[in-house]
Amino acid sequence: MLAERRPSRRIRLGTVDIGDGAAISIQSMTITKTEDIGATLIQIHALATQGADIVRVAVPHEADAKALPMIVARAGVPIVADIHFSYRLALLALEAGVQGLRLNPGNIRDDGQIRTVVREAADRHVPIRVGANAGSLDRALVARHGGPTPEALVESALGEVRILEDEGFTDIKISVKHQNVAQMIAAYRLLAKATDYPLHLGVTEAGPPPTGLIKSAIGIGTLLAEGIGDTMRVSLTADPVEEVKAAKHILQSLGIRRSTFDLVACPSCGRAELDVVALTKQVMGRLEELKLPPVQIAVMGCEVNGPGEARDADVGIAAGPGRGLLFSRGRQIGWVPADRMVDALLEEAVKVATAKAQAEAEAGVQSGVQGQAPAGPQGGAHGEALEEDLTRDLTAVADPI
Ligand code: SF4
Repeated sequence: MLAERRPSRRIRLGTVDIGDGAAISIQSMTITKTEDIGATLIQIHALATQGADIVRVAVPHEADAKALPMIVARAGVPIVADIHFSYRLALLALEAGVQGLRLNPGNIRDDGQIRTVVREAADRHVPIRVGANAGSLDRALVARHGGPTPEALVESALGEVRILEDEGFTDIKISVKHQNVAQMIAAYRLLAKATDYPLHLGVTEAGPPPTGLIKSAIGIGTLLAEGIGDTMRVSLTADPVEEVKAAKHILQSLGIRRSTFDLVACPSCGRAELDVVALTKQVMGRLEELKLPPVQIAVMGCEVNGPGEARDADVGIAAGPGRGLLFSRGRQIGWVPADRMVDALLEEAVKVATAKAQAEAEAGVQSGVQGQAPAGPQGGAHGEALEEDLTRDLTAVADPI
């Protein structure tokens, strides 16, 4: 069981609510030069199509800020301007109509300049993320804490928050990112106790997949399981579309937000009568293209232990030599020849996913509802007890389809 969500205030970033029980939103960041409007918009659209709720763009130069009006107008998702050092760029971004600002504590050093930005943001109802990063903390603060500790991160973030609050500004979310997963978790736990602002989760500089994925899944996943976190970015040294896919899978794995497929696949072993890894990769690739509503699909590598898992998923296949046994919503559909396995599995997945989405829509349930557990295997039947069942299954199956 997951812990209850930490109570927090709610802010609104463009069309997206953050905090106070709102759906945990997925963010990513473009890696184009923001001044290249065409390339940036193509990437924003790719991220939004994949499921990003909010996209951040870097604004290091005036040319980037000047590109923002066109980008904001055509993005289709709320845009956050990532600002470092220059309050003028923050003001230009606000003028351009961005829906959010990210400021790094301490790197706009003049309090008066920060206050000018805050007043402008308040007038425009634009929330600000106070985003502290272990790598860019104030040196004196780091020296006092003996390193970029969780306490140093939290102190830095809350110091900046106080300046914003002095201006009567509370449209705030906070992040305290660290590249060390244990320190990141500790920092967010501290922060969650110290404030009720919504929190933006992330492991900074997590690196390329698979290590970046693992670090992010552990860091973000641990906190989400504890009820901490209101919006998130998986930082990967990769195409940012991979960040969005990873974020969706983290939320899906925890049963927090169902927005994509859940692929259950056996690891293969000496019993497998076909290349399970290749089969699973093929299914995975096709599923990513299909962009189905939430559905659970099982790919199992043998006729011994496979049918149990395949039957427990929405749609599943237990592959055997030259053929596979197809299941749909717990019912055996029949044998399919090896060269039809992927197509048959996916055809069935489309049917089931569409029917489920329709039923949920009719019941007034949104697929993004928080806390709703995905349809999943009921305890997994990958074991000895299943073999008897299986023998029955194998003798009762229909003709190949
Ligand atoms: Fe091995 Fe079959 Fe289990 Fe896959 S389902 S790991 S092939 S026993």
